[in-house]
Amino acid sequence: MEDLTGNVSSEFEAAAFLEDGSRVAGKMLLHEGILEFRPNTGADSIRLGLDRLEISAGGNQNRLIYFKSPHRAGISVYTTDRTALKSPQLQRPDLIPQIKKIVGHHRRKHTGYWAAAAIVIGVLAGAWLARGLVFELAINSIPADAEIKLGELIEKNMGSTMSIVKDETVDAGIETITEPMVKVADSTFPFKFHVIYNQEVNAFAIPGGSIYIHSALLQKADSAEEVAGVLAHEMAHVIHRHSTQLLVRRIGIYVAIGAIFGDTQGLIAALADQGGFLLSQKFSRDFERQADDTGFKLLVDANIDPHGMLTFFERIKEIQDERMSDTEETAMQVMGSHPATQERIDNIKQKLEELPEGQKFTKIPLDIQKIQRRISLPE
Ligand SMILES: [Zn+2]
Repeated sequence: MEDLTGNVSSEFEAAAFLEDGSRVAGKMLLHEGILEFRPNTGADSIRLGLDRLEISAGGNQNRLIYFKSPHRAGISVYTTDRTALKSPQLQRPDLIPQIKKIVGHHRRKHTGYWAAAAIVIGVLAGAWLARGLVFELAINSIPADAEIKLGELIEKNMGSTMSIVKDETVDAGIETITEPMVKVADSTFPFKFHVIYNQEVNAFAIPGGSIYIHSALLQKADSAEEVAGVLAHEMAHVIHRHSTQLLVRRIGIYVAIGAIFGDTQGLIAALADQGGFLLSQKFSRDFERQADDTGFKLLVDANIDPHGMLTFFERIKEIQDERMSDTEETAMQVMGSHPATQERIDNIKQKLEELPEGQKFTKIPLDIQKIQRRISLPE
């Protein structure tokens, strides 16, 4: 456009901070050698010489371009219109280095955004290709104390649905069985054992170290070693964080990605009310195998005869098979979350055969019937 002097000028929406600190909107016009700010109020134009003009970027994401001059030190004119930097009037040897600095900076920032976007897209794409890996990363990003906290929340939410056996003899008996294993387990999770009244033969572990033993399981056991076998298996589920892995897979990939990037709180919140799910969910064959392997090792390390693990699972398998001929549904009620399959039994047999010949174990000093009598007392 033409200005009063007839020179080509460029005009941009702009605003200015004045000497008294007030802000006024207006137009910025660039003429040969002069930056003119024309307030929308109709007040007199402000003119800054281009010879000592200082150009800088600022504000949110450096979107604002500031123009200042030592000739009018208290005034700064600014615009969000970056095309101003391209106007021919500013292409002066003394200004070009300042402009390059701003443009270069902005480009670098954009490059940063694109790099971040590429990473996110990469993570999401990777998620489709390797969801397992993402979940593993998410689980590994949960610190032990957060998992313990999660366990406490789940317990709190489940508390009303469970009837805990409060009996010193029972507690002492469970401690006699578990103490040697807790010692050798060397786990970051503090193991806690609770017996609950429940007619399903089962036991389950929740994240963070709490293990619940159904009263019916204790009733079905023939020896303390058999109970130890089941509890060693449950402890192994805790050590390998299997419940947490199930939960994390359940709540989905996006929360998992959040956890990888540090949003453990969001993950915990999403998981806290999923306790009921844990009871209904079966572990995968791999998890069961891993829990058997680690549990077996716990027993041997704790000097407890691992034959109890075998005999108990064999008995459970018998009950399962009997019930299977009955109906599918009732069959599920025995060790529902850890089915005693022939495959598992064969694996344990194999391990027993691999033990050094004549290896002796210390008998657990506990008469299991003592516990059983206490549990069968009226609730
Ligand atoms: Zn299991």
